[in-house]
Amino acid sequence: MEQNPKSEGKCLFCGKTFAKAGINRHLKTHLDEKLKTGKSGVSFLVKVEVQKWAPKEYFLSLWIDGEAKMGDIDTFLRNIWLECCGHMSAFRNPKNRGNGWDFFEAIELMEQGKVKAYEKLMEESAGEIPMSRKVKDVFQKDLKLEYEYDFGSSTYLQLTVIEEYSVKAEKKILLLSRNEPIQWLCDKCGKVPATQICSVHVWEEESKFCNKCAKKHAKECPDFDDYAAMPLVNSPRMGVCAYEGGTIDTERDGVFVNK
Ligand SMILES: [Zn+2]
Ligand SMILES: [Zn+2]
Ligand SMILES: [Zn+2]
Ligand SMILES: [Zn+2]
Repeated sequence: MEQNPKSEGKCLFCGKTFAKAGINRHLKTHLDEKLKTGKSGVSFLVKVEVQKWAPKEYFLSLWIDGEAKMGDIDTFLRNIWLECCGHMSAFRNPKNRGNGWDFFEAIELMEQGKVKAYEKLMEESAGEIPMSRKVKDVFQKDLKLEYEYDFGSSTYLQLTVIEEYSVKAEKKILLLSRNEPIQWLCDKCGKVPATQICSVHVWEEESKFCNKCAKKHAKECPDFDDYAAMPLVNSPRMGVCAYEGGTIDTERDGVFVNK
């Protein structure tokens, strides 16, 4: 079923709502103001979007301090959008992608606990950025990075550095905006908002159901009846690998509510 829901987010500073396409332009006006009053340092306005395999409506706008580490961003993304069962993840700079790597060499280094050597290999061969690296040593305006969580049932994100500021961010990572819960309609009847997703059929055309259609789906899909019925949550990982929601900003993590 063709879905065309709105994607909009609230500005943390003034509480006004903007469409995905305009939110970061708006946030820049606040951050320009911070330049006058904030402590000197370096920080970045970063947008996080879906790269592939999930709907494009999801977004985060983050103000990230240069002293934060890539691993801090990884933790933040896991906490708000991704963590299901501790999968591996990686940031990659597609421009630094080398010629691929020797899989067995990588495994061997990991098994021997040679973390630094492993990181060097992965950086040179796959453009992977070590989690220990400071953000200020990686980010610059217009940089685009890929992020992958779970090298299997992957969630692929893209980070874009929109602007660099010569001021400290007010936190290591401050959530300036995210898409409000999206109004997904039931894939089956197309009439009312969906409330549940089937994790077995998550890659298929029909996976999100209203309560009524969920009852029907349970008759056709024994797994759904058994274990695969998941709540709708506000994340591109919704329904994948039993993901059931984040641990931060949880008040915006539920289903769409008509206000
Ligand atoms: Zn604002
Ligand atoms: Zn998982
Ligand atoms: Zn329905
Ligand atoms: Zn199903």
